[in-house]
Amino acid sequence: MPARVVVVGGGVGGLLTANLLAKDLDRTQAAITLVDATGMHVFQPGWLYVALDKANARWLARDTRALLRREVRLVIDEASHIDVTNRRVDLMRGDHLEFDYLVIATGATLARDEIPGLRHTTHDFYSSAGAERLREALRGFSGGNLVVSVPPMPFKCPPAPVGFTLLVDEYLRRKGVREQTKITYASPLNRVFPISSVAGMVDDLFAKQGIEARTGFQLQRVEAHSLVSANGEEEPFDLAVSIPPNRGAPIAASSGLGNHQGWIPADPRTMAVLGTKDIYVVGDASNLPTSKNGSTAHFEAPRVAEQIVAAIEDRVPNPVRSRYRGLVICPLEVGGGKATVLVFDYDRPPRPLRPSRLWHTATWLFNRTYWFTVKNGRL
Ligand SMILES: Cc1cc2nc3c(=O)[nH]c(=O)nc-3n(C[C@H](O)[C@H](O)[C@H](O)COP(=O)(O)OP(=O)(O)OC[C@H]3O[C@@H](n4cnc5c(N)ncnc54)[C@H](O)[C@@H]3O)c2cc1C
Repeated sequence: MPARVVVVGGGVGGLLTANLLAKDLDRTQAAITLVDATGMHVFQPGWLYVALDKANARWLARDTRALLRREVRLVIDEASHIDVTNRRVDLMRGDHLEFDYLVIATGATLARDEIPGLRHTTHDFYSSAGAERLREALRGFSGGNLVVSVPPMPFKCPPAPVGFTLLVDEYLRRKGVREQTKITYASPLNRVFPISSVAGMVDDLFAKQGIEARTGFQLQRVEAHSLVSANGEEEPFDLAVSIPPNRGAPIAASSGLGNHQGWIPADPRTMAVLGTKDIYVVGDASNLPTSKNGSTAHFEAPRVAEQIVAAIEDRVPNPVRSRYRGLVICPLEVGGGKATVLVFDYDRPPRPLRPSRLWHTATWLFNRTYWFTVKNGRL
């Protein structure tokens, strides 16, 4: 009987893992099922460009079926519970799936309601609807205090709010209202960017563009025109772009797998969920000590796939192809048609490269070839 492999979540991590498994295993070896709540795969980095009126949200979502190898069965439903002991995944509509191997790739969720006032008073570009609403707000913005605030770590793609701040500066200059606008970037950390080797470069970029950086500002609540920090400091705004706290998907907590924030504890090299057998976590859903990033999921997926394929083929996993060293590659748009790229792993912090047009072009090319990359498990 073929091994039953279930992948929960059809984002970057889940889609790629399912496709890679299907590429390496034939139907006599494995029956692979991908469960996704929506059946639409979304290219989230594009939301940054939607907010800034440079992209259309419609082009960022595609039918998951069209991106999956045909050997993979797609179930469009929400997984409601993972029963580790009885090795089954319950689905919202009443069915269940039994598994021999399970990959959890349920991503992160936005905890907008953890901060009173955040949902109805501020904007963000961390969802499709949020990005479109922010685009409208920016179209109507004619100057004043524009505040960008970020939550405590971890949240997905920490360079994205920095990139947004630098690009919104450019957007407002083009619109002719930058002179009338004060831009402030507020972070709960004691530096503007979480990774110290990059923080200095971001400080310089902000200073050059006249963007004010406010550190140690942990957002506690939002009032009509003011962000209020945990120690009572206020940041007045006319337009606030506040990235909500990020948490693990509800299923992690309801299945007893997540930590206090819903992130699933896993081995940082094998992505095996701690305390379980043949269960792995890929992408944002884990508590791995690295950046929550599409590239992280991209580099983890083949490692998890190799371990599952090896187990099914009853062989030892290839030691290189099955171990993740924490590699992350993330672009940072800095405006002026330039970008830099942050490359790091568990042992090496990023050394920021000088922003250039070349990296901007590379980012642009990557964004356009993304659909080709995830489809059919191509890497
Ligand atoms: C504005 C923005 C800019 C970004 N820029 C970059 C960038 O430049 N480079 C980069 O590498 N990364 C970037 N990222 C981060 C990147 O998009 C995420 O890290 C990546 O999508 C994580 O992949 P994932 O598979 O873990 O989760 P996701 O892609 O979020 O997918 C999770 C999937 O699980 C499904 N799901 C959740 N719960 C259930 C359930 N119970 N049952 C069934 N299905 C479920 C969801 O429907 C979803 O399809 C950015 C993110 C944002 C928001």
